This record gives sequence, structure tokens and C-alpha cells, in this order.
Amino acid sequence: MKQHLRFGAIVFLLLFPLLTGAQCGAAAGTAGPVRYGDLAVVPVPDGAQVTRLTSLLAGWARMDEAHLYAGGDSRKTATVPLPAYLIERQGKYLLVDTGLAPALTTDPALYLGKCAAYLARDELKRLNLRPGWDVPARVAAMGIDPAKVTDVVITHAHFDHTGANRAFLSATFHLTDAELHAGRHGGMLGGYMSDDFPAAMKIQKVDFAGTKPLLTFPGSVDLYGDGSIYLVPLPGHSPGQVGVLARTPHGLVLLVGDAAYTLRNIEQPVLMGVYDDRDATWDTLCRLRRLVQANPDVLIWPSHDPQVFREQPTAPDSL
Ligand SMILES: [Zn+2]
Ligand SMILES: [Zn+2]
Repeated sequence: MKQHLRFGAIVFLLLFPLLTGAQCGAAAGTAGPVRYGDLAVVPVPDGAQVTRLTSLLAGWARMDEAHLYAGGDSRKTATVPLPAYLIERQGKYLLVDTGLAPALTTDPALYLGKCAAYLARDELKRLNLRPGWDVPARVAAMGIDPAKVTDVVITHAHFDHTGANRAFLSATFHLTDAELHAGRHGGMLGGYMSDDFPAAMKIQKVDFAGTKPLLTFPGSVDLYGDGSIYLVPLPGHSPGQVGVLARTPHGLVLLVGDAAYTLRNIEQPVLMGVYDDRDATWDTLCRLRRLVQANPDVLIWPSHDPQVFREQPTAPDSL
């Protein structure tokens, strides 16, 4: 989420006539005959299952429709969830993202800095947060000791996905180099909070170079080497975003972070109103669209889709 980049939405309203009617044609960056419809769908090899997957709701936000969809009505807003996810595997826990900062509920001025809090006051009004909704509180409410969270995958480094990183510093953080750089140096106006990435953080860099394609994605990392969780590259919305494919007892679930804000971004397909790299965002959306068309057995969960969220099991339920 980059609510503060409304000017980006305005720019894309101007560009919208160029974007309407866009289809997934030749893959971005390819001059040859490669088309998304021809992309091979590499099957997911057999592997171990995770024990359970649960959504943790950290809050709600009102987002401009023009932010969710390029060309959306700038006078309309939609209320979207701000989730993280908890995966249990072999008695240990993996978080996917850490949600908004708990301090946003209790002391936003201190968290953001007084000047930034002043500038962000309109945006803060758009957030619906309550004590007990932050991810560390959600984890504790499930009776789980935060020290048992051994790993955290950061889909991307926007502040609504990294705000409680400091509550899990005993864990190993998995993210790409590009995303770590964006998190530390992208700046608040880019949607990044460098405080969420302290030097003390244990980091395992995710690197897709030389890895095997999986589903419709050009690379993959088997996180534990047992096929239970794969990371796949989903760049565009943020430079080094990853998706998390988990094999749950009820099937494969692909957590796509903000690679798409909602399923509509994939199914139509339609770009979001803001992004880091237009071509990469479109390429990722088209790969997801090809996956939806070819393999409906993979559940795709964008972070900010209210309809998808309502269908997800939230704590204490799980998949
Ligand atoms: Zn987000
Ligand atoms: Zn984001």
C-alpha cells in the first residue's frame, strides 16, 4: 500500500486511455513470439505439507479506488484488510509479513515522527486499528510464544507489511536484496520505514538466480528443502517482491502480497494505480493470470482483497 502516492494515481488516470483494453500479450521485455498464453505451467513437485495456515488481521484501511485500479473512480474508496499470515510447520512458526506497527495504535506521532505524523494525518484517519489487532498480539492470543516464530518472510518492504518486524528479531528474515535495499533506503514517501530493518536483524537473502521455474514463474526457492513452502519472484509493485506458495492440508495457497491488490487486478487484468515498475508489475499480473487460467487448484490470496479475506480462515481457524 502506498496511500501517500496519490499523485501517482493521478498520473495514471491521465494514462488510463492507454491502459484500457490492455491484454496479456507478448511478455514484457521479449521481442520474440513468447506470449503469456503460451507460458509453460511447471507443476509443483510432491512435497511435505505445512500443518496449518492462518490469516492475522492487523487492521483495515480505506483506499482510493483509483489506487486499487488504474482508471478507478478517484471519488470512491474501498475498505481493505491489512493482513499477515502465520504458518505452522513441524511445531515451529513462520510469519509471512508482520503487519502494521503496533505503535500506530498507541502513539502514531512517536512512531512516524511529529512532522511526518502531521503530514500523514489524513492517511492515519483512513486506518482502522485497535489494540490487540497487531500481529504480535494476534500471535500471543493464539498461545504462541513469539520466540517460536523462527522465520519471517517479507513479501515486500512496505510499512503495512513490516511494522512489527522488531517484535520478531529472534527469527530469521527472508527477503530479496532488492527489497532489503528498498526497506532501508526507499524512504517513508516510498512507503518504506528504515526502522523496520535494524542492523541486528538476522537476514537470509532470497536469490532466484539460477533457480528452477515453478508454475508460471521464472524462478523458485524451496524454503525448507521439503517442498512445503516455495518462494517465487513477483516484482513490480515493489522491486524485489516475493510470493509464498504453501502446501496446506487443504491444497496449495499462493500468498502474493501486493503483486495484485485484489483478484480483479489479475482476472481482468488491470494494473494497480501505483507501482515501482510498470512493466514488471504487468508481467507479474499476466503470469498470475495465466496461472489462474491454467491451474485453478492454487488458491491466490492478494493481501488487500476484502472478498478474498472474508473467505480466509482467520485465527483461531486455519487451513
Ligand atoms: Zn500492502
Ligand atoms: Zn505494498
